[in-house]
Amino acid sequence: MTSTDPRRTVPRTDAVLADPRLQRAMRQLGRPAVKRVVTGVLDELRGGQLSAADAGEVAALAAERLPVSATSLTSVINATGVVLHTNLGRAPLSQAALDAVVAAHGYVDVEYDIATGRRAKRGRGALAALRRAVPDAEAVLVVNNGAAALLLATTVLTGAGGEVVVSRGEMVEIGDGFRLPDLITSTGTRLREVGTTNRTKLADYTAVLDDRTGCVLKVHPSNFRVEGFTSSVDVASLADLGVPLVVDVGSGLLRPDPLLPDEPDVTSALRAGATVVTCSGDKLLGGPQAGLIFGAADVVERLARHPMARALRVDKLTLAALEATVDGPPAPIAQYLTVAADSLHERCAALAASVRDVLDAEIVASDGVVGGGGAPGVALPGWAVAVPEALSEPLRLGTPPVVARVERGRCLVDLRCVPEDSDAVVAAALRTAAAHTTAGA
Ligand SMILES: *Cc1c(COP(=O)(O)O)cnc(C)c1O
Repeated sequence: MTSTDPRRTVPRTDAVLADPRLQRAMRQLGRPAVKRVVTGVLDELRGGQLSAADAGEVAALAAERLPVSATSLTSVINATGVVLHTNLGRAPLSQAALDAVVAAHGYVDVEYDIATGRRAKRGRGALAALRRAVPDAEAVLVVNNGAAALLLATTVLTGAGGEVVVSRGEMVEIGDGFRLPDLITSTGTRLREVGTTNRTKLADYTAVLDDRTGCVLKVHPSNFRVEGFTSSVDVASLADLGVPLVVDVGSGLLRPDPLLPDEPDVTSALRAGATVVTCSGDKLLGGPQAGLIFGAADVVERLARHPMARALRVDKLTLAALEATVDGPPAPIAQYLTVAADSLHERCAALAASVRDVLDAEIVASDGVVGGGGAPGVALPGWAVAVPEALSEPLRLGTPPVVARVERGRCLVDLRCVPEDSDAVVAAALRTAAAHTTAGA
């Protein structure tokens, strides 16, 4: 070892961690996270990739590399034009929902009556808000997600040895390889498939109903469309079969929406006679991940009392966000779904103009989509800024990451799901990305 060998000057981890900057960071991020960063810097020092004179300098290098928060989840700008982007966390929460989550973060009366000092019904505020939003429902139950809602309803209504009757045209895969038939049979419930992929008639159902039938299930095939020679049986006809009817509407529309005429909604399914209706909380409802079950009071109570319900229940943060979403101002997705094409064009024009001195930017027609496996046939007319494809990676790797859409050799920056006050952030990201690539004009 010579006197200039870097290993001789590597300070001890504890000495670096004693630095006031890192002590402050530890209170925000925790000791393990800060120590990981310091260890990384010290390793590079030993390897000779870095040089630092003393513990203070090492601490300064480490401080620059500290994460901004204690979660590795990174907030991104969704410039894909996909409103409910599953990989980007589906529905973004409203400010009201976020405020509610913050308010509920400590000790809260989630299951406690402040007036009497006694135990109270868990999540009653969220349940009341959902009942007000769907007056046709006698009762509501909130579980972990749409899949959990479906699982609980079919399992409890069917019981051991019973069968769920479902059309072959509705045996859907909901994404990432998960299939509803596998989900339902995973608890030991048997499925009785009727009809064919494209056509199922009422007689197909009546032919199999017997004393093993626990319920009939109708699933909205939300992520694909079958066209041509097709038929399915409507909710009202299935409700007349005289057995409990579970309707999975999927996306969480509580009432009909003229923008999405093919999307079934909870209210209409209940009015048509469904025993219970299930849906997700973080699709078209625009709230936190949750599964909602609406229906007759006695049936919902049975579901709520089943042991499985305890394994599927949601936490106080979800209940807070859900109540604020249902009762509060429209969720961000409501605006993203309905933003006027003209206004998108205007914002695209401003964005393109602000970056044209550094890169090739063109305004192109670009349809947004609902996403999240919902409303596959619906195009949301709009515009995007097309830039060279090579920008898509530096945009993604920037701070904040901007996730755009690559289409036919171009990178499309769609502002539909970008809050308007973040347009300037996107412009700055484009300039930075252009500087990182030779593709800039
Ligand atoms: C999305 C969806 C589900 C699953 O809901 P999650 O909230 O993702 O668990 C089930 N059924 C239908 C019809 C859906 O669209």
